[in-house]
Amino acid sequence: MTAVHAPGAPLIVDGRLVSTSPARGEEVGRVPVATGADVRAAVERARVAGDWWAGIGFTGRRERLLRWRSRIARRMEELAGLAHAEGGKPVGDAVVEILTALEHIDWAARNARRVLGPRRVRSRLILAEFTGQLEYQPYGVIGVIGPWNYPVFTPIGSAAYALAAGNAVVFKPSEYTPVVGQWLVDRFAEVVPEQPVLTAVHGLGEVGAALCRSGVAKVAFTGSTATAKEVMAACAESLTPVLLEAGGKDAMIVDADADLDAAAEACVWGALTNAGQTCIGIERVYAVDQVFDAFVDKVVTKAGRLTVGPDDADLGPITMPSQLDIIRRHIEDAIARGGRAVLGGPDAVQPPYVHPTVLVDVPEDADAVREETFGPTLTVTRVRDVDEAVERTNALPYGLGGAVFGRKRAVAVARRLRSGMASVNSTLTFAGMSTLPFGGVGDSGFGRIHGADGLREFGRAKAITRRRARSLLPSMTFERTPADVARLVKVAKLLYGRGR
Ligand code: NDP
Repeated sequence: MTAVHAPGAPLIVDGRLVSTSPARGEEVGRVPVATGADVRAAVERARVAGDWWAGIGFTGRRERLLRWRSRIARRMEELAGLAHAEGGKPVGDAVVEILTALEHIDWAARNARRVLGPRRVRSRLILAEFTGQLEYQPYGVIGVIGPWNYPVFTPIGSAAYALAAGNAVVFKPSEYTPVVGQWLVDRFAEVVPEQPVLTAVHGLGEVGAALCRSGVAKVAFTGSTATAKEVMAACAESLTPVLLEAGGKDAMIVDADADLDAAAEACVWGALTNAGQTCIGIERVYAVDQVFDAFVDKVVTKAGRLTVGPDDADLGPITMPSQLDIIRRHIEDAIARGGRAVLGGPDAVQPPYVHPTVLVDVPEDADAVREETFGPTLTVTRVRDVDEAVERTNALPYGLGGAVFGRKRAVAVARRLRSGMASVNSTLTFAGMSTLPFGGVGDSGFGRIHGADGLREFGRAKAITRRRARSLLPSMTFERTPADVARLVKVAKLLYGRGR
């Protein structure tokens, strides 16, 4: 079937969401659209499934999750092909995305017990007659809402950790990538046939909104900042906690002692991979004066060599047709305000493709510097020194990731970035390190996926104290005497009253 609408734009036919290729418009697959009642029913079923899943314990979950990982790994070419067909990204990019997702499933499965399982916690002198126990218990049902740009990596970044923590998950994939979302769920059902522990509900934004109001115990949302606010507002009605992974406008800083070839190579990758449709993609560069010209030359040479097109090209189409207007507006606005395109420019927008565009001399108040462009474009700005670079980088409300190239000061500069993550002498690498948390500050959201923090995000801390001896100095009892209270005063002064 060939759809008669903008290639890639979702279409609803007879209650089914038809997913189409943004490159050619052909159908990739179709899934049923959920009603509000369907969403509530899915959450009810997941509640029962979640009890069962929690009951099989860390060992049972680990074994199932590792089997899910293996299933996906063994069929990764098929999944990469689907992600390519449905979202338009080159197969090579899809393979890297799937590899990263597999690593996250593996780590979450293997480490959930260590991070979340019951453990003794020592008490101090106060209440020394008690021991503490801490564990992180599953919430129940987690609603995962995902975007289209990394349709495997982003939902798995939440879902694998939520599942490893003992929760059931109801997943709402983006309307642009429902087939990939359903594929992941189907592979899970093969290894966990007993109960609907991971299920998908499909449809447009209203299905996501229904999921927020469906009685899930927590919502893990990845998507734009504007939608994140709607999700938080909907969840506020029932005090449902939220984890928000929202947009970004990540910057890269190039210091005077940077390896410029490595910096240019990583910059071109970080900015243009997935045609720039990457939340942690590099959209701005601040290069210090001494290296600015040489750096720009190298970036233009490398970016200018990239191919753009439907199949084996380096850059595929823009997945969401409406984004093309935003990308064009950002380029035109930058040029209208005195910027120059040293590669590409307004003509680079050739729907459904955008060719690499590098802009210089763009003022800091231009849309191309302040707003998420989500296309294969980049502004490179000359700065006096790294202090100015840090100041400009931190001037936006977004704060997701970032990169620093340099030797002596690079790590110190990375620590000064107002962001949740940063990479030194590479770009985007923190996303693939399963042992590190991932998440933003400010308009980029809050909460963390990945790593130990990512596991804890999906468990409620449960604290238990247990008496192990009689209290020598009774305090929390009506049996205490005035003499006990006097001794408590003495102890308090001895322990805490010292110093100035
Ligand atoms: P959107 O915010 O448009 O959509 C994200 C998801 O939310 C989709 O499944 C969407 O459904 C759903 N949705 C839409 N409206 C509502 C609503 N009112 N209530 C609940 N859910 C709703 O983002 P995109 O899909 O366009 O993704 C791109 C954005 O995601 C970029 O801003 C990017 O930076 C960000 N992103 C952030 C990441 C991070 O980790 N911080 C990672 C990857 C992307 P539907 O598609 O059906 O409208």
